[in-house]
Amino acid sequence: MDVIKVTPRGYCYGVVDAIQLAKRAAADPSVPRPIYILGQIVHNQHVVDDLARHGIISLDGPNRLALLEQVERGTVIFTAHGVSPAVKARAAEKGLHCIDATCPDVERTHALIRRLVSQGYQIIYIGKRGHPEPDGAIGEAPDAVHLVETAADVAALDLPSEKIAVTTQTTLSKWDTEEVIAAVRARYPQAEVYNEICLATQQRQEAAVFFSQQADLVLVVGDRRSNNTNRLVEVVQKLGRRPAYRIDSVADIDPRWLRGVRRVAVTAGSSTPSELTRAVIRYLEQLDLEVSAPGT
Ligand code: SF4
Repeated sequence: MDVIKVTPRGYCYGVVDAIQLAKRAAADPSVPRPIYILGQIVHNQHVVDDLARHGIISLDGPNRLALLEQVERGTVIFTAHGVSPAVKARAAEKGLHCIDATCPDVERTHALIRRLVSQGYQIIYIGKRGHPEPDGAIGEAPDAVHLVETAADVAALDLPSEKIAVTTQTTLSKWDTEEVIAAVRARYPQAEVYNEICLATQQRQEAAVFFSQQADLVLVVGDRRSNNTNRLVEVVQKLGRRPAYRIDSVADIDPRWLRGVRRVAVTAGSSTPSELTRAVIRYLEQLDLEVSAPGT
């Protein structure tokens, strides 16, 4: 089968840095043991399993503060998604050694929120409920930052200030946020908009839509909990108008998807290890050999 290898795809620099930080800690005998990661370092089970082989324990659950209560000693690594100041304070209070793997792009949003709130702004934060990144960012100023997912959430807001700013989770798509931002502008024309979708996310989405136009089908390799992976599927379906499926690995490919397909484009979320994506590409290319082999 003809396979288009979408670029850029896969690991972003934030993820690469976070994984390297964790592995360096595991290799350094002076780092206090045990070593925990507060949540999945990135939303990919294969990465989590690999870190477990290095002796790193990933604690999983929706609330970072609650997870921290499971740790009595040693080291905690904060994930690329960032954590709230309350989590950092509690870790210090417990005397834990902390390693902060927050992506610099996420850190920039936290700094923006701190600056705007100190100037008296109310912040409308567009993000996904229950995802660790909004939890960390909102934790910078819980009384002044308001999470919205939809235009209906905007309609339900009652903000106690004329100074209003809008910002976003880094892994959304600009197409996702457009409708919500339009709703904010309609209700609060004075609102200042700070789009914080990171460059890595944006470039992967634009490339996926662009290459989908040359393909009959798009496969997106990534974990079901990876927000940027799910957004890639969505932008291809909505904007590329092509069928697109998320898969964890080769094992998830449903042969029925491939019926009548001549060209398939393959991309991957920014938390997906490249060996998984390469295995998918190899499988699809080989499939072509099998299909076109004489006598078959
Ligand atoms: S997707 Fe963007 S914000 Fe998230 S870790 Fe990667 S570069 Fe950083």
